[in-house]
Amino acid sequence: RDLVRAEAAALERAAEGALRPKDLGEFVGQTRVREQLSLVLDAASARGRSPEHMLLSGPPGLGKTTLAMIIARELGAPLRITSGPAVQHAGDLAAILSSLEEGEVLFIDEIHRLARPAEEMLYMAMEDFRVDVVVGKGVGATAIPLELPPFTAVGATTRAGLLPSPLRDRFGFTGHLDFYSAAELAQVIERSAGRLEIAVDPDAAHEIASRSRGTPRIANRLLRRVRDFAEVRGTGDITIDSALEALRVYEVDQRGLDRLDRAVISALCTKFGGGPVGLSTLAIAVGEETETVETVVEPFLVREGLLGRTPRGRIATPAAWEHLGLAAPPQSAQ
Ligand code: ATP
Repeated sequence: RDLVRAEAAALERAAEGALRPKDLGEFVGQTRVREQLSLVLDAASARGRSPEHMLLSGPPGLGKTTLAMIIARELGAPLRITSGPAVQHAGDLAAILSSLEEGEVLFIDEIHRLARPAEEMLYMAMEDFRVDVVVGKGVGATAIPLELPPFTAVGATTRAGLLPSPLRDRFGFTGHLDFYSAAELAQVIERSAGRLEIAVDPDAAHEIASRSRGTPRIANRLLRRVRDFAEVRGTGDITIDSALEALRVYEVDQRGLDRLDRAVISALCTKFGGGPVGLSTLAIAVGEETETVETVVEPFLVREGLLGRTPRGRIATPAAWEHLGLAAPPQSAQ
């Protein structure tokens, strides 16, 4: 099962890669972050120096990796990609840092998941462009200082609040990415359709966009699934009818809830009487990882006003009962 999942994820990454905007001009939406970023980059290139370290925060699939690639490209600098979970030992990070080229952009995805010793090494590297490499063990261990070339760290996190403040403070710029509007996602879809050489009617693009949960990754994924449907069952062109039918087949409803979203609110309503229930219990009830429910499902449901967070746990809102076509018990409205 894991192999199948890994293979599906690799295919998805390849499909995504093909649709990534290459520069800030192609990057749709996020006007404020785009403007701030272009100022930081222009100022750095006018000074002929590496820009300060940058932190990008926001829910998954909104374009953090894409922006890191764009930053490196706009700087004409090489890009090294790693992630918090991949760097479990300070030695792993020392190996990466000591092999950086001058001006290189080091992208650290999920930076909030770095192990503590690696995190501490990163503070020093970001601040002083220096690391202490520990050689030997026990009483004979010695720290050898190693100078690093100037580089730019770009950290990405879904949870900026989880970063310890010493790390957060070392970023000279923080860009917060927000969910996209349906109009912006329609633009993403039309751009992607152009790349994939498929015809999409504007109303079909808008319909797919409005079911994409404010997220370009989902918009592109739904577009590819609707294309499959249109190619197999229709002429290949995406009309409003083929889009609606495809979205019904893939179980993506009018509000953009997919099977997992509905499973979460349905478990909340039918198994736990509308809550409050703890997040991990809820995740077990739908057979998902707690983190997936918390970072992928929940922000959207909260934003849609379908789920509430209380100190005693998660609750279903009256809108959630209504969305499922169920009558809310009187106490759930409180
Ligand atoms: P994660 O943290 O889960 O890796 P992410 O925020 O890094 O997510 P990306 O991988 O950068 O997200 O983006 C996901 C997909 O969405 C990419 O394939 C990219 O093509 C598309 N995308 C993201 N942002 C935009 C945008 N502003 N305009 C057009 N396409 C975008």
